Amino acid sequence: MIVGENKPIEEIIASVNEYHNVLVVGCQTCVAVSLTGGDRAARSMTEALTHAFKDSKPLHLFETSMLERQCERDWIEPFFDLPEGIDAILSLACGAGVQTMADAFKGIPVLPALNTTFMGALDQPGILNEKCVGCGDCLLALTGGICPIARCAKRLLNGPCGGSSNGLCEISISMGREVECAWHLIVERLKALGKLDNYEKISELKNWSPGGSGGPRQLIHPGETPF
Ligand code: SF4
Ligand code: SF4
Repeated sequence: MIVGENKPIEEIIASVNEYHNVLVVGCQTCVAVSLTGGDRAARSMTEALTHAFKDSKPLHLFETSMLERQCERDWIEPFFDLPEGIDAILSLACGAGVQTMADAFKGIPVLPALNTTFMGALDQPGILNEKCVGCGDCLLALTGGICPIARCAKRLLNGPCGGSSNGLCEISISMGREVECAWHLIVERLKALGKLDNYEKISELKNWSPGGSGGPRQLIHPGETPF
């Protein structure tokens, strides 16, 4: 899932300051799991902004609305009527959701309330870890299901490096927490799977420009044509 963190409230206040009737729109999918985009988060944001602007003149009004997914046009237009008088949308979605909303409501500013942080997984209640950077050429079949791109601090394709110690990455020191060495994990996992021969395979040079062209990527399902 995509993980998002709240922007600092001061930054959000500054970005909505010039608008007077703001619709706070939550997103019920990925960012709801990181507790920054769901129904509760959207209502809390509305309350926080209403409180922050309680003495402002002219009045600032904030309303709450929810969408199941802001990153899918099919989930926006049929299910969402913009209330009258709204002069800005504050989106509690990832960057893809904010941009899809901006595309759907071209005449109105759509402002981000979140910083889109990473693609990750909820490994324990309240603990989300980065797992994938969307490199476009997945190596997990060779690496025992552990991503060296997202989880190795140096994005090494043939690790570990000399900074691996007792299963931990040297980055643990600067991060102030124990960060497992991805390549230690990969080797241990390959051993457990009886696939240590994978470790002997030298990875080819990776194309670090996703999609090969450096531009934004597109996936087209068979039979579909882009608008
Ligand atoms: S190798 Fe890692 S970054 Fe690339 S697609 Fe697979 S999980 Fe994602
Ligand atoms: S110690 Fe392991 S995870 Fe850290 S940079 Fe080296 S190989 Fe990557």
